[in-house]
Amino acid sequence: MKHFDYIICGGGMAGLSLAYYLKKSRLKNKSVLIIEPQDKNTNDRTWAFWEKRPNTFEDILYRKWGLVQLIDANGNAQVIDMGGYQYKLLRGIDFYTFVTTELRKYAGLEWIIDSVKTIKEESDGAIVETQNGKILKASLVFDSTFQLDLTLKHNHNLLQHFKGYVVKTKTPFFDPVLPVMMNFNIEQKGDCRFIYILPFDKNTALIEYTLFSESLLAQDEYDSELRKYLVHQLQLPDYQILEKEFGVIPMSDVATEEFPSEHIIRIGTAGGYTNPATGYTFQNTQRKLQKMVETLERTGSPKAKKNWFESRFRFYASVLLNVLEQKRHPAADIFSKLYRKNPPVRVFRFLDGDTTMWEELQLMNTVPKTKFLAAVGAVIMRKIKARLSGQPHP
Ligand SMILES: Cc1cc2nc3c(=O)[nH]c(=O)nc-3n(C[C@H](O)[C@H](O)[C@H](O)COP(=O)(O)OP(=O)(O)OC[C@H]3O[C@@H](n4cnc5c(N)ncnc54)[C@H](O)[C@@H]3O)c2cc1C
Repeated sequence: MKHFDYIICGGGMAGLSLAYYLKKSRLKNKSVLIIEPQDKNTNDRTWAFWEKRPNTFEDILYRKWGLVQLIDANGNAQVIDMGGYQYKLLRGIDFYTFVTTELRKYAGLEWIIDSVKTIKEESDGAIVETQNGKILKASLVFDSTFQLDLTLKHNHNLLQHFKGYVVKTKTPFFDPVLPVMMNFNIEQKGDCRFIYILPFDKNTALIEYTLFSESLLAQDEYDSELRKYLVHQLQLPDYQILEKEFGVIPMSDVATEEFPSEHIIRIGTAGGYTNPATGYTFQNTQRKLQKMVETLERTGSPKAKKNWFESRFRFYASVLLNVLEQKRHPAADIFSKLYRKNPPVRVFRFLDGDTTMWEELQLMNTVPKTKFLAAVGAVIMRKIKARLSGQPHP
C-alpha cells in the first residue's frame, strides 16, 4: 500500500487550492496525492466574489469592478460603490490551468484520474480506496467529495440554482464598468428570483437567471426565462450565445463537520465553507485553506482553535433561510433595503463574517423586524427539535 503525507480527494476548487497552498508553504516537500476523475480542462464555472486585498489568484482574474448595480422589484436601480472592495471574476478554466501548471513545478505531487470509493479512519492515518481498486494511505486525508445531506427535516435546505449564457452582441450594448449584482425586476413566481449580468466588455457578458428555492426547474424553463429576459426586457440586439453555465449550490444550515475524525478533514463545500445565506464559497475557501496550511506548518495539525463566537453568523444565515423558505417577506425587498439603508461596505463585511456586534445590530434594524423575529423563534424551535430527535446539529 502506497503511503503519502497528504491525500486530497477531489481536485476541484478547494482541492487544487489546498495543493497550491501546501506546495507554496514550508510543507512543500511533503508527498501529496490528488485523486480526481476529471481532466479539469473545461470552463465549467465562473467564480464571482468580493474582497479588499489582492487575491492569491489576482494575476489570472478575468475582470474586476469597483461599482455594482442592484435593481429592485420595481426596476429602481441603485449603483453601489464598493468602498474599497472589488467585485472579482475568475473563470474556472483559468484557475484549473494556472494551478495545475504551477503544481507540476513541484516534486512530491502525484495526481491520479480515479474516483474515491471509501475513506476510513485508522489509528495512524486514513485509508482511501478508489473505484479502480487502489488502496492508498496518508497521514492526513483532505476530502472535498463528501456529499452533504440536504434532506434532514429540521434544517433549511434551499438551493441556489442558476443557468447563464455568455452572450456576444454585434453592436456595443453593455457597460463594462458596471455589473448588475442582482436584478429583481423579473417575475418572482412566489420564489426569490433574480438576474445578474457580468459584463466582460461592451459586447460580451455573462447573464445568469438565478433562484433561491427548494427545488430545481426543468432545464427548458431556465432557458425560456432567460430568453424572455434577453429579448423582451433587456431588448438585447442581435446576439449569439458563446457558452452556457448551469449550477446548483446548497443554501443549507445542515451541520457540517470540517474535522469528522483525527486524520480526515473535509474542505470546500463538503467542509461547510459555503455561506448558507448567499451560496458564495470561493473567497471563504481561500481564507480557510490559507489559515489551515499556516496552522499545519506551525503546529503539525490542521485544526485551528474554533472561535465559537463566530458561529453566530451561521445562526443569522439560518434566520434568513427561514424567512426565504417560509416566504415571510419578499427577498427582493430585503436585499434592496439592506443595500439602501446601510453603507454597502457594512453589508459586504457582514456577508464575509467580519462585522462587529454593533454593526450587526445596525443591519438588523434595516430588515422587516417582526418577520425576522418570527424567523428567529422558528429557527430556535427547529434547533431544539433537531437536538431532541438526535439529528446532527452544529
Ligand atoms: C456553476 C457554478 C458556479 C459557481 N459560482 C460561484 C461564484 O460565483 N462564487 C462563489 O463563491 N461560489 C460559486 N460556486 C460555488 C462554489 O464556489 C463551487 O461549487 C466550488 O467549485 C466548490 O469547490 P469544491 O472544491 O468544494 O467543489 P468542486 O470544485 O466541485 O470540486 C469537487 C471535485 O471533486 C471531484 N469529485 C467528485 N466526486 C469524486 C470522487 N468520488 N472521487 C474523487 N473526486 C471526486 C469533482 O470532479 C470535483 O472536481 C459555483 C458553483 C457552481 C456549480
